[in-house]
Amino acid sequence: MNWYTSYLPILEKALHKTDVWRSSFGDQQSSGSDSKKVEEVINKLQQRLEGNYPFHHPQYAGQMLKPPHPAAWVAQSLAATINPNNHALDGGPPTSEMEKEAVEMIAEMVGYKQPFLGHLTSAGTIANLEALFVAREIHPDKKIAATAQALYTHRRMCHVLNTPFLEIPVDVFGNPDMDFLEKHKEDIGTLVVTMGTTGLGTVEPLSELVMWAEINNVRIHVDAAYGGFFKIISDQLNSSIHWDALSKADSIVIDPHKHGLQPYGCGSILFKDPAVGQYYKHDSPYTYFTSDDLHLGEISLECSRAGASAAALWVTLQLLPLKREGLGEILQKTIDAANAFSIAMDKSEMFEVYQNPELDIVAYFPVSKSSKISEVSGLCRKLFKAGMEDKAGGFHLSLFKVSAKEFTSRFPDYKSDEDTVTILRSVFMKPEHLDFIPELVRRLHQKLD
Ligand SMILES: *Cc1c(COP(=O)(O)O)cnc(C)c1O
Repeated sequence: MNWYTSYLPILEKALHKTDVWRSSFGDQQSSGSDSKKVEEVINKLQQRLEGNYPFHHPQYAGQMLKPPHPAAWVAQSLAATINPNNHALDGGPPTSEMEKEAVEMIAEMVGYKQPFLGHLTSAGTIANLEALFVAREIHPDKKIAATAQALYTHRRMCHVLNTPFLEIPVDVFGNPDMDFLEKHKEDIGTLVVTMGTTGLGTVEPLSELVMWAEINNVRIHVDAAYGGFFKIISDQLNSSIHWDALSKADSIVIDPHKHGLQPYGCGSILFKDPAVGQYYKHDSPYTYFTSDDLHLGEISLECSRAGASAAALWVTLQLLPLKREGLGEILQKTIDAANAFSIAMDKSEMFEVYQNPELDIVAYFPVSKSSKISEVSGLCRKLFKAGMEDKAGGFHLSLFKVSAKEFTSRFPDYKSDEDTVTILRSVFMKPEHLDFIPELVRRLHQKLD
């Protein structure tokens, strides 16, 4: 297989045309370095990069990692030679246009209508920070609430924003405690709902929460950094009713660098009401923010942002639109892979599935003869290590910690001899995982033996 090298001629041709464009401004000596030295250092880099795990290969079924779409890589590399800055329209007119177009496509996917407000960010963390910042401005005297399974970043960002955070307890299936919410409704200004938790890919019950929030005048922020693009194929998911409610959220975070095939450096934030632009502190009246000449830098907490990221996303969305017969086909395979894996492990006498997948993440563990949770943890760590030690015949998983209480409430036959249990977790975010599932299941059984 050629991987990225087969796309080099496309990049080379485009680079050449860009050089011609550069020269059209008049000849100018470039300040590049001695190419022999560059090659030497790049060789060193190449060797050091081999210290990575095989994120590209389906045997890597660990964390949320995969290489970008080759077209995104070509686009990003090409645009980076110009290095436009999407802070302001003047910093990169074409890539700023591309950013707006790409963000419009994401907004259309979630069901937001014009006018809305949105832009790309360098990651989901800063996108969530922007959403929580706006949340605090709108309800300055109230708390921001999220469930115990929300990413830790929300609690930390509340600390950054000097805003009180309220953790909502969840049941074993990840459903928020509605009695708790009801009891605290006077204190809550904004509720964060995670669609696709980082841990197990749980989709929180947005449709119920949106209804509850409407009655209680609570703002809803959806953290769909991981799961957002699954909206495209949500009619295939058990959680479809919650995805239908996405357009009712006040703000939404979706990371193109998670499931949008982008290199790192690409998150996004959308606000349903463009009036929130006023909180980004600017002299202009609010109408500025809906004018055709929207300055992306005026509605972003970040200043400089890579125009190359917008170019990469824009190109990817031309090739794989946010439709079932586009990115949807890839996402469907990741769901199918997780389901196939879960079914195979469920059938096995040697493994137990911890939670059936809602998206493309499965948690599981080897059955322990002693029924002690400490033995489960030990077996998981052993298998995790054994898989990594076999380069071409192994696998890469991730470890996931759950409390003994949570674990034994699902598996009452197990005895708690420790406070936490370490189980296994696999993120099947590559379409190539689907065909590899039988082989992965075989390897897992073989290494456990
Ligand atoms: C990954 C993730 C984030 C953080 O996004 P980054 O792009 O890593 O900064 C936030 N929330 C959820 C649910 C995530 O999965």
